[in-house]
Amino acid sequence: MELFAIFGDPVAHSRSPLMHNSVFKNLLYKACYTKIHLKDGSKLRETFFNLALSGANVTVPHKEEAYKACDEVRGFAKTVGVVNTLINEDGRLIGYNTDADGFMYAIKAWHVENVLIIGAGGTAKALASRFAQDNINVSVLNRSQEKLHYFKDIASTCHTWENFKASKYDLVVNTTSAGLQDEEFPCPREMLETILDNSSFAADAIYGKLTPFLKLACAKGISYKDGANMLLGQGVLANALFTKGNLKTEDILLQMQKSFEL
Ligand code: NDP
Repeated sequence: MELFAIFGDPVAHSRSPLMHNSVFKNLLYKACYTKIHLKDGSKLRETFFNLALSGANVTVPHKEEAYKACDEVRGFAKTVGVVNTLINEDGRLIGYNTDADGFMYAIKAWHVENVLIIGAGGTAKALASRFAQDNINVSVLNRSQEKLHYFKDIASTCHTWENFKASKYDLVVNTTSAGLQDEEFPCPREMLETILDNSSFAADAIYGKLTPFLKLACAKGISYKDGANMLLGQGVLANALFTKGNLKTEDILLQMQKSFEL
């Protein structure tokens, strides 16, 4: 029996075990998926191999640490320097990123030419690079300066709260963890009100609850999505890597969708 896991801090809220175990159980794949609360990201590689995992997902705040922990990084993860999926390939740790394509899957019904990303962490990097790949104009807003450096060549504008002035956006995305375990807005409320008044669509990477950000979007009558569809998209792609092409993607998708009803 193969063992898979998700690493994060916090990780208790994660639906990934339910999603992947539904696939394994219902498609008779001999594997099991668990959660690991990891506080110190530098222990990721050591913990992965001590537990003899076949693969893993990595969530907040360890995705950049996961990139560093790999022996080899493949595909889109190489572009962004952020890894959310790890595979044990004959004792070598291989890293992938399935978050960004999962997000594009979630918003495919919306016409988006320009986007404001709130937050500048791993998810923001992946999305900004993925949007840029599709020639979508990207602006980034973060509470502090340090992480904005990465976006200089990708985004048309990068701002902290201090120097931000809103313009028109097709889509605004919350990629911060504000609202995950608290009732905070991802930026000061007045600023967010102006942003939403100038936006057509809103999306949050957080799933399983209506965050203050989405509540405000909803109150303003803006179409919105939470992170559940993004989670589904990244999960299907990760599971296909875990099961090494032995399961059909349509079957993985169906089982994961069903797990959302549990
Ligand atoms: P990171 O830790 O890499 O980055 C977090 C970012 O959020 C930083 O820019 C940080 O700002 C900002 N931030 C954190 N707390 C606050 C706050 N209270 N107010 C304003 N800004 C804040 O996180 P990730 O990019 O890995 O994940 C971000 C969120 O996305 C998490 O909630 C995660 O659960 C969710 N997620 C969901 C997925 C899905 O499938 N639905 C997939 C991936 C992530 P600063 O630079 O100032 O510290």
